[in-house]
Amino acid sequence: MDAALADRLDAVLPQTQCTRCGYAGCRPYAEALASGAAGIDQCPPGGDATAAALAELLGQSARPVSPAFGVQGPVRVAIIDEAVCIGCAKCLPACPVDAIVGARKQLHTVIGRECSGCELCIPPCPVDCITMLELDPRPLPLAAIRARALQYRERYAAQRARGAAREAARARRLEARAAPRQPPP
Ligand code: SF4
Ligand code: SF4
Ligand code: SF4
Repeated sequence: MDAALADRLDAVLPQTQCTRCGYAGCRPYAEALASGAAGIDQCPPGGDATAAALAELLGQSARPVSPAFGVQGPVRVAIIDEAVCIGCAKCLPACPVDAIVGARKQLHTVIGRECSGCELCIPPCPVDCITMLELDPRPLPLAAIRARALQYRERYAAQRARGAAREAARARRLEARAAPRQPPP
């Protein structure tokens, strides 16, 4: 896999990390494109304009996003019905861009300006209190997709860094518990 090419491909992707392309996020999709394992038509949030940018980078003919992966769709954000939310916090780790605020046993809220509309928070909610609100029936134009990608990239990186720090702390705690106790002097 050509990592420099994957970087260039990743740079034009929307960074919602929605997984609709069939990969675990934008970077894995970019790597699959760079290695020839994926097609340019697999990213619905990027729309046909992003597919064309991918085609150009790969020296291929442009083609629209395949309906098999979904359609670009309107601009939507998640909203939480606070009267129904039980504060279980299961939606928090599902959000790739940390757009949900709340703590265990507290009501949760979506920060609308940070929400990419990826819908990944919906399946983990045990009481189905997350729905999507349409803000604009038109899909985002390419310039807005690119501008938002910068915001989502930063928030996703911060979320991953915090997750890694939590895992490292957990591993240290487990290691400390497993270590044999020293007998008292
Ligand atoms: S934004 Fe596009 S490339 Fe990124 S995860 Fe979603 S479908 Fe895949
Ligand atoms: S709040 Fe839900 S829909 Fe919005 S970005 Fe987070 S996971 Fe995606
Ligand atoms: S998963 Fe649903 S019920 Fe649990 S905190 Fe999130 S919105 Fe509330």
